[in-house]
Amino acid sequence: MSDEHAPRFLIVGAGPAGTSAATTAAALGAQVTLVEDSVVGGAAHLWDCIPSKTMVASSIRMQAIIGAENLGIVPARARVDLARLSERVARISEDLSVKQVALLESQDVEIVRGRGRFTGLHEAVVEIEDGTRRFDFDVALISTGSRPRAPEWAGVDGERILTTRHAYSLDEVPEHMVVVGSGVTGVEMTHIFASLGARVSLLVSRQQVLPHKDPEVAAVLEEDFLERGVQLLKGARAVAIRRDGDEVTVEIQDGRTVRGSHALLAIGAVPNTDGLGLEELGVETDGGFVVVDEFQRTSVPHVYAAGDVTGQMLLSSVATVQGRKLARHALGHPETPMDYTKVAQAIFTEPEIASVGLEEATAAAEGRKVRITKVPFAANPRSLIHGSTRGFAKVISDPAAGVVLGGTIVGHRASELIGILALAVQAKVKTHTLTETLMVHPSLSESLADAAE
Ligand SMILES: Cc1cc2nc3c(=O)[nH]c(=O)nc-3n(C[C@H](O)[C@H](O)[C@H](O)COP(=O)(O)OP(=O)(O)OC[C@H]3O[C@@H](n4cnc5c(N)ncnc54)[C@H](O)[C@@H]3O)c2cc1C
Repeated sequence: MSDEHAPRFLIVGAGPAGTSAATTAAALGAQVTLVEDSVVGGAAHLWDCIPSKTMVASSIRMQAIIGAENLGIVPARARVDLARLSERVARISEDLSVKQVALLESQDVEIVRGRGRFTGLHEAVVEIEDGTRRFDFDVALISTGSRPRAPEWAGVDGERILTTRHAYSLDEVPEHMVVVGSGVTGVEMTHIFASLGARVSLLVSRQQVLPHKDPEVAAVLEEDFLERGVQLLKGARAVAIRRDGDEVTVEIQDGRTVRGSHALLAIGAVPNTDGLGLEELGVETDGGFVVVDEFQRTSVPHVYAAGDVTGQMLLSSVATVQGRKLARHALGHPETPMDYTKVAQAIFTEPEIASVGLEEATAAAEGRKVRITKVPFAANPRSLIHGSTRGFAKVISDPAAGVVLGGTIVGHRASELIGILALAVQAKVKTHTLTETLMVHPSLSESLADAAE
């Protein structure tokens, strides 16, 4: 297809959804314009996945040093240099972004720095540094992501009352961090700051951390937190946060209060749709999130949306695949809808928590007959050698066909191990194939073969 006739593909937002759509669309011959008002790579690179996991990497080292004596090593006293850690976080994000820009430019994707807004069915403008630029498009993608929810009652000030976006550039490790919210982000932040030496109180609005996970999964994590001195406040829904000088007070619905040096909110995300011109475009939204069909099409058929802005499984990995698939669909290539039942996901605490496919609670809720087999890592030689025996591997299979339907791993390196089960679920592997696979000995993977038995 010559450039003259190449479809004009306009993408607003260069996070995982936008950049993957850009790469695929460019490879398929579209004329791609990618609009970004912050960093190419998106919040995923700047604020979310990459910085939080860089912090987790340092937390793991710190924990390893603290636990080294159990392995016969007496470490020198370790100290956290938060300034250097923050610098590392920024450098890694920047490096990744630079590489991504180079890749996109090598594919002739035009990157426009500025804020995009739709002004008509086939038209958008971008506020650039010295004015505005107008773009006509045949196909558009809304991939503007989300930002942390920060309601007024919380009084976020970026100094003592924080969202995750403020967590990577603190001058020193907080003396006492009160984490509000015990979903994935809340428990990861608890793990990070507790490992770096802060005293941490975690407000859990229900009766267990990770309210959407199986209780036995949450129990392993709670045990680790309690062992590390984290204060767990259950049934604690925050209603207000006040700052008084160097102190913050979090008020709980039932009248309790918790004092700390800092508070960190981890209570969900809101979509970035303000000022995007979605009304002018006629794109339907629900609670601010853009409504899409199974091919990521909005209510305006030539306008797609993907990633966090759609509110479907807020994960970078999901955004990436959505972007890739919709680009193919939009450009007339055969494509299958997203399959959300096979998404591998992980929570980067220690032990890590990872799952894929069918979960036990879902099977029970659906009254589905399944076979559940489970082994504890305490029985795994490699776990014993490493000194990290907490957790288990669980495999869920179809009792008649013997096919692996899902699995949960709680333990050291669970985020890597889950790849084996993800492949098994995707390829409809039978449990006996997993059992007969000759894994390395001693290795953590052996527990997966055992769990499938
Ligand atoms: C603390 C934290 C940790 C996380 N860790 C993980 C993880 O380990 N693994 C994982 O899979 N997911 C993780 N996530 C989720 C993940 O970050 C998101 O799902 C992912 O970033 C969504 O990608 P996206 O493409 O939708 O948008 P984003 O990454 O949010 O990017 C959207 C981009 O659009 C830009 N933009 C917005 N409006 C406009 C406009 N009008 N004009 C131009 N540009 C605009 C924004 O500046 C932004 O750069 C984490 C989230 C949080 C909060």
